[in-house]
Amino acid sequence: MSRYIATRAIRGANAIVTEAEWMLGRAIQEKGPDTPVAFPNTAYYLPVIFGMTGTEVTTLGQLEQAMKHARELLHPVPAHTHWTPYLGETLDSGMATLLAAEVIEAIRYVYGLQPEPMPGFHLAGGTSFTSPDVNGGGNGADGHLNGAIDDIQLRSWGIQLVDGRMPGFAAIVGAAKSNEVAVKIIREFQRRNILCFLSGNVNGRSIIHQLAEEGVELGYDTYTVPFGTDTLSAIYALGFATRSALTFGGLKPGQAREILLYNRERVFAFVLALGEVDDLKYAAAAGAINFGFPVIADTVIPEILPTGITTYEHVVSMPFNEIEGGDDLERAERLVQKCIEVRGVKVKVANIPVPVPYGSAFEGEVVRKADMRVEFGGKHSRCFEYLRMANLDEVTDGKIDVVGSNFDSVPEQGHMDVGIVVTVAGREMQKDFEPVLERQIHYFVNGASGIQHIGQRDIAWIRISTAAADKGFNLEHLGKILHARFHADFGAIVDKVQVTIYTEPDKLDYWLAEARAAYDYRNKRLADLTDLAVDEFYSCTLCQSFAPNHVCIVSPERLGLCGAYNWLDCKASFSINPTGPNQPIKLGKLVDPSKGYWEGTNAYAKIGSHGSVEEVSMYSIMENPMTACGCFECIVMLIPEANGVMVVSREDTSMTPSGMTFSTLAGMAGGGIQTPGVMGVGKYYLVSPKFISADGGFKRVIWMSSVLKETMAAELQAVAEREGDPDLIERIADERHATTVEDLLMWLEQHNHPALMMDPIF
Ligand code: SF4
Ligand code: ZN
Repeated sequence: MSRYIATRAIRGANAIVTEAEWMLGRAIQEKGPDTPVAFPNTAYYLPVIFGMTGTEVTTLGQLEQAMKHARELLHPVPAHTHWTPYLGETLDSGMATLLAAEVIEAIRYVYGLQPEPMPGFHLAGGTSFTSPDVNGGGNGADGHLNGAIDDIQLRSWGIQLVDGRMPGFAAIVGAAKSNEVAVKIIREFQRRNILCFLSGNVNGRSIIHQLAEEGVELGYDTYTVPFGTDTLSAIYALGFATRSALTFGGLKPGQAREILLYNRERVFAFVLALGEVDDLKYAAAAGAINFGFPVIADTVIPEILPTGITTYEHVVSMPFNEIEGGDDLERAERLVQKCIEVRGVKVKVANIPVPVPYGSAFEGEVVRKADMRVEFGGKHSRCFEYLRMANLDEVTDGKIDVVGSNFDSVPEQGHMDVGIVVTVAGREMQKDFEPVLERQIHYFVNGASGIQHIGQRDIAWIRISTAAADKGFNLEHLGKILHARFHADFGAIVDKVQVTIYTEPDKLDYWLAEARAAYDYRNKRLADLTDLAVDEFYSCTLCQSFAPNHVCIVSPERLGLCGAYNWLDCKASFSINPTGPNQPIKLGKLVDPSKGYWEGTNAYAKIGSHGSVEEVSMYSIMENPMTACGCFECIVMLIPEANGVMVVSREDTSMTPSGMTFSTLAGMAGGGIQTPGVMGVGKYYLVSPKFISADGGFKRVIWMSSVLKETMAAELQAVAEREGDPDLIERIADERHATTVEDLLMWLEQHNHPALMMDPIF
């Protein structure tokens, strides 16, 4: 253990705890002890304090307890002689620092100083936009940094952290040597889909300033979250880590040791300290080491080698100017490489031969009309994509043709018709995999920086930005991307990939007709696939890396709760990876057709949940409902007074008649625990004939977030007709009509909702 680091970390901790106490005293005096404190949109209170101590802080006065605890963790600054600094004392000081930092940020929220104002700054929006010309729908108003991450975002990243699309996170503190280096570092992380949390400064300059000056889009969508320009705001990264353990690991608040261990073992995170490290940064770094997150610094500092806390180094020094390599950009690349090595982050990147940066971090990018070179599909033109299988000898691997003209002759911001036909062959390929693979086109194309892809099938919509076109991106590159990614991601089933892009009108029409015939065939095939028509369902245990006892049982009529895996997907996944997370569940004897119990599903539920669940009903919310991890698209919850259920969308942040918002409800629904009356589901389960069919089915829905009504209007209308009540959707209340049980009951009576006449739900 380095005496130097211990000394500075302990000194930093003492200073910040003292400052936090002083700030708290003043805040209580000015605002009163009962003044509410909270981070926005979270069910985890102040997450580090909640996780480490179990305390649900809701008022300023309650922060005193947390500060008392922080003070107890402090140790005296070591005297110059006779003292052998000790790791435990440094770690304690680190924890005290984290508690104090969270208290200070909470107080800043009370004073309106968080999220940190930054005039002129614009956060890249959230994912729930309907048109790329509309800014945002996103996280936070213009002129502010991000501040704390909300639960909705935490959960939506959860699935990506689980399925490996996002291998880990980097807490970057300070400022890089130059703007150019800052951009390079971020691009290198983005290329690997590593989430970047940005905070801190060196002499007033922050990496956030550097990136903003260079026009790098920062926000949830680009995997770069600017917390704040001081070191303290790095606390939000540890709040995120703590909540991951609570949300996905099923741990309880107050289980400090388990939460820290969980992070050490399952969350691949590290701290990258750019520029000079002061006492406070040493103290905060000591806090991060508690979580098993190593610190990599680009300056000269003493190193801490592996001890009991981690099997890797705790602190690594890699002075930037001494990094071998040609220029600063190469040094930046090596620095990033080092971070990944130290923490053992598993990254897989396919090399994509296109003239623009490529990686999942660019998936959420929006190309606005003003920045657009050309678009295919959307309002003014047609665009479709169709993936089909063929025999091995009919496909030439890597052959990419553009049939018809490229877009050179299309005027700026113009449009044209495009059809993308991908032909694949492989010994393991099956017809049923076609739609599964075809759906990947969306993600693959979106990975290119400056290219935006929306929709699928014959409602695809692609935009190419002027910047990308200037770099030479053209139609052929779409084919290159698809060829490379299908090989990289689906090499187990796809041996050959050929792509033809049609712009020539006659050929395009011909293939569009072919594609539509295939879409019809697939629709029909999926519609024919009922639970009773198959003899196996599939398990999904992908989320067990976060929620160790949760398993989704996926049937043809009930998809996984994250919405990303339906029965066909699981079947395809099993063929591709027979020892993977999706295993067939042989159904065996049907025990109860109405509630949905089979001998096979019951036996599996017990094994898959490691004994924490005895039985699972496929069709009931009231009896042995399926458990949830944290990735659900919607929460279904019983409203006993209304004899029905409400359905809350993840995108809905408003109050619900249960008296709770989505994020609070999510805390109850997740964690792999069976809670009768509460269930997390994929939104397409709502329109399945098997949706809570044991409890009365869709007619039990008495309240539903309006965003679902809008985005699924056609599907829901079909359900209303199937249920024999074409006006059913209009009888269902939403947040515009009722946010309390009283209002809800009034609405239901006025609108004659059928649930009021149904048998009691329990
Ligand atoms: Fe996780 Fe269930 Fe989705 Fe699988 S289907 S990834 S277990 S939420
Ligand atoms: Zn999950």
